[in-house]
Amino acid sequence: MKSYKKGQLLKFAGYNDDWFKAIVYIKGKKKTGYINAKDVGESPKKVTVYNIPILMYHQIGENPQPDEIGRFVSAKNFEEQMKYLKTAGYTPINFDEIRNINKIKKPIIITFDDGYKNNIYAYNILKNLRDATFKPKATFFITGSDIDRPDYLSLKQIKEMSDSGIISIQSHTMTHPFFNDSETMGNIDLVKEIKDSQTLLEGITGKSVTAIAYPYGSYNSKVLNEVKKYYTYAVNNKKCDC
Ligand SMILES: [Zn+2]
Repeated sequence: MKSYKKGQLLKFAGYNDDWFKAIVYIKGKKKTGYINAKDVGESPKKVTVYNIPILMYHQIGENPQPDEIGRFVSAKNFEEQMKYLKTAGYTPINFDEIRNINKIKKPIIITFDDGYKNNIYAYNILKNLRDATFKPKATFFITGSDIDRPDYLSLKQIKEMSDSGIISIQSHTMTHPFFNDSETMGNIDLVKEIKDSQTLLEGITGKSVTAIAYPYGSYNSKVLNEVKKYYTYAVNNKKCDC
């Protein structure tokens, strides 16, 4: 490990009881290697991995602009997808229920990013699908500074949906910055984006905000360290290397 120049190590973590897994960049290419615990001088920490599917949505609506197609789903289509989850025996949960994951049948997490006003349709659909056996929940990741702006959810709507117990309100930072960009990272106020957005949303809902979704799925070690201080869960949209 020491032979690699600093900055080239991407990830180093326990793989099983005896081996560590290291992912490094060598000459611009990503390589995976394994190092025995004896050579590291310590045993890998036990990590429990749960595979819970997370569905990411942004907007509910018809006929979006061509460059927005991937971010839209029609209300009818969304309803069909939720009905499918119901028939297939899934349990749509919020992040805090991960604690009890072993007791939950086919858990799945439904998320909406950015806090658009049209997300209300998703709330209504989930509310109408509730019955004795299916109690779907979803998580709305809200960008603090967008609350009450045109096209975005209002403070009142956020509070009402949170009170319903159907929608869990969680953080999508305060201003939706791109965290990976080293040129502008210096200008990003991490306390405002990470801690203050949590305080703001907790003030509105009166409930804990324990999850954050990284805008554009972007983060770096500085961001991660700050997030770890305040959140239990962090979500990105990249495939995990674990
Ligand atoms: Zn976003």
